[in-house]
Amino acid sequence: MSTGAADTAVAARIARTVRADIRALSAYPVTPAEGCIKLDAMECPYPLPDAVRDAIAAAVREVELNRYPAADQRALKAQVAAAFGVPAGAGLLFGNGSDELIHLLIQACCAPGDTVLSPWPSFVYFDMAARFDHARFEPVALTASLALDLPAMLEAIARTQPKLVFLAIPNNPTGGAWSGEQVRAILDAAPGLVVVDEAYQPFADRTWMPELLAHPNLVVMRTVSKIGLAGLRFGYLAGHPAWIAEIDKVRPPYNLDVLTQAVLRTVLEHKAVLDAQAARLRADRAPLAAALAALPGVTVYPSGGNFILARFSGHSDGNAVHLALKTRKILVRNFSAAHPLLAGCLRISVGTPDENAALLAALQEILSSEP
Ligand SMILES: *Cc1c(COP(=O)(O)O)cnc(C)c1O
Repeated sequence: MSTGAADTAVAARIARTVRADIRALSAYPVTPAEGCIKLDAMECPYPLPDAVRDAIAAAVREVELNRYPAADQRALKAQVAAAFGVPAGAGLLFGNGSDELIHLLIQACCAPGDTVLSPWPSFVYFDMAARFDHARFEPVALTASLALDLPAMLEAIARTQPKLVFLAIPNNPTGGAWSGEQVRAILDAAPGLVVVDEAYQPFADRTWMPELLAHPNLVVMRTVSKIGLAGLRFGYLAGHPAWIAEIDKVRPPYNLDVLTQAVLRTVLEHKAVLDAQAARLRADRAPLAAALAALPGVTVYPSGGNFILARFSGHSDGNAVHLALKTRKILVRNFSAAHPLLAGCLRISVGTPDENAALLAALQEILSSEP
């Protein structure tokens, strides 16, 4: 068969084999980041110090790659619980990033067609994972000012009886944090499980972790991705041990590999380094937000994360500013076309002081050279 004929044969077979909704998806566009200031993915801009790298190298040296990861995770669970304030008596489940935990939650709870609900716009993977796992995703629009619409949430919960409610607090990409009163109302109304996704908790003022066992339907999910370890792929889910035991049944047996475990153990011995980096980013957030808000035509939304959502209006819409920044080798995330509530919006990670200054200088130039 010629290459062309072979391709045609494959295409025909794909057309009758791969799910129609999957075929309709376009591949995730990945922007080459070579030589760019990378403010598009909420990564920590600070590398680990040499002493920690050396300790990691020594720990990795001892890993037995010929063996499957040990089944007994008790020691690592105790270390994670102590490092991140997981209350005594709560159970823990580890995932290959919290992306995997989102899948496990849906797979364990949702039969095909069951509802997964979340305020919207929020973390896109809630929607994607629900659809991949044959659940139905119910988005509940935020208000025009990007606040939680509690009456709309309660109405949608009563109407759709969701198995799972995902609440990203602080929310990505808007940065807002839903109040204790709002979350309690949702916990009371939800017939199933409420997953509070605290990916950005280290940059925020509050956590639901201490209240885990005070509600029959609350679990808290966190990740180390936003605190300097995005490359590691480690997330954890904390909750009543009975909930955790059910979700654990669908976990692939060796989802946490030996290298990840070894690196995590070592990094957690130096957790003060991660805490200091997070504190630095948190401190740099307000000045960056104020400087962005002072630019012409820019509205900034309050953020509890290591990023800021900014709306660009007037001549320069979000698309134009996004492109102009990219031309200057500064990458931010464009949400202009993602949702009507986000028209003109760019999401900007807090970077190093130099990166933030470069961003602001570029924006000054871009916004003052308007036609
Ligand atoms: C970034 C992010 C995650 C992703 O976590 P990983 O552990 O990197 O898979 C989860 N939830 C929210 C809300 C996020 O913004």
